[in-house]
Amino acid sequence: MQARKVDIAIVGGGLAGGLMALAIHRAHPRLSLALVEAGDSFGGNHRWSWFENDLSPAGTALLSVFAKAVWPDNEVRFPAYRRKLHAGYRSLDSRDFDAALRQRLPQQAIYAGCRASSISASAVGFESGSGITARAVIDCRDAGPSEHLTGGWQLFLGRHLRTSEPHGIDRPVIMDATVAQHGAYRFVYLLPLGRHEIFVEDTYYADRPSLDAEILRDRIASYCFEQDWKAECLHEETGILPVVTGGDFDTYRASLATDGVALAGARGGFVHPLTSYTMPIAVENALAIAEAATLSASGLAEFVEQRAKDHWRKTRFYRMLGKMLFEAAEPEERYRIFQRFYRLGEPLIERFYAARSSPTDKIRILSGKPPVPVTSAMRALLGKGRPLVHEVRDEC
Ligand SMILES: Cc1cc2nc3c(=O)[nH]c(=O)nc-3n(C[C@H](O)[C@H](O)[C@H](O)COP(=O)(O)OP(=O)(O)OC[C@H]3O[C@@H](n4cnc5c(N)ncnc54)[C@H](O)[C@@H]3O)c2cc1C
Repeated sequence: MQARKVDIAIVGGGLAGGLMALAIHRAHPRLSLALVEAGDSFGGNHRWSWFENDLSPAGTALLSVFAKAVWPDNEVRFPAYRRKLHAGYRSLDSRDFDAALRQRLPQQAIYAGCRASSISASAVGFESGSGITARAVIDCRDAGPSEHLTGGWQLFLGRHLRTSEPHGIDRPVIMDATVAQHGAYRFVYLLPLGRHEIFVEDTYYADRPSLDAEILRDRIASYCFEQDWKAECLHEETGILPVVTGGDFDTYRASLATDGVALAGARGGFVHPLTSYTMPIAVENALAIAEAATLSASGLAEFVEQRAKDHWRKTRFYRMLGKMLFEAAEPEERYRIFQRFYRLGEPLIERFYAARSSPTDKIRILSGKPPVPVTSAMRALLGKGRPLVHEVRDEC
């Protein structure tokens, strides 16, 4: 039997691939697509959150098809102060992502439960033995640690809980860093999903990527105990995300590249280096790639390559801050960097999360009394950094 031929095959139906498929379909309903995902559902097991102002109006319109939680403001808590911030906050559960994609994409575009075993500029082979041919292929598979990049890790375990009594939290708490630091920058993240439902995540920035799920569950249980919440767990997710502080980006991309295939998603380097978040970047990329969707395979690959290089260049500042976070500050003192940062103006904070800090923002962030000793900061900036190659160990 001859392989089916499509205009564009996207391999990896996570956040980046799914948004790209949606954006291409909206911009060019006549183009035939294949969204090839190894798992049974698109998006895996994630909850993605972002600030309302992270997105352009076109980005907001793209995400309008997803059911999501919406809040008008948010809050941070540090040992020295609490602050309410007026930026709207949004959160999307991957189960709602999957449901909307299945509803919005043409049935023939859906290749869930289908692991790609080979990709080239014009074809995708499946583990099952079959495959498809395509005018252009986009690689959005997930990425592992790389010896070509340096940095540290952001580790977390989040639990969606149902409390027996109303929990009393009325806005997202983006960082509650009043908790014990346990040798890392640690904070608790809270999303009130209903009067009796709350998502509680224990997060820390660590030098090594080993996540001990039992310890984090215990910490969440202690946090709930301190708030006087009795709760049952409805759902759980974990994350081990690289926080990139430097490296050789061209060699990194070359190590993953396939000739004539566009390399996108977090794998392609489209991440906020310090927060490891990708939502606003994935949205803007999806919209840009949709506009360029009629290019040839090599034209599209070059287009995405150029965007990745531009993104790397534009995010240098965040990698530098990451270096100072990991290498200049003692683990127990790292929270001071964020405690100081969150005293700055709200528009500056919003631009920071969207990876759009202006030159003046950068000066403001770096000026004043530094929260880490200047000599350690200089040493960190001049050092090579730690390669992101540790074996990822999830003891879940
Ligand atoms: C638990 C968790 C929570 C996060 N929360 C946020 C957040 O709140 N906000 C935010 O902006 N970012 C968040 N992130 C970071 C980042 O946005 C996510 O990691 C995001 O999912 C990255 O998108 P992606 O599409 O590049 O990769 P992924 O979403 O990881 O998608 C890659 C997909 O490729 C598939 N795949 C791999 N190999 C193959 C193959 N051979 N064939 C077919 N398919 C394959 C995988 O199954 C996977 O679904 C979170 C990450 C995690 C892990």
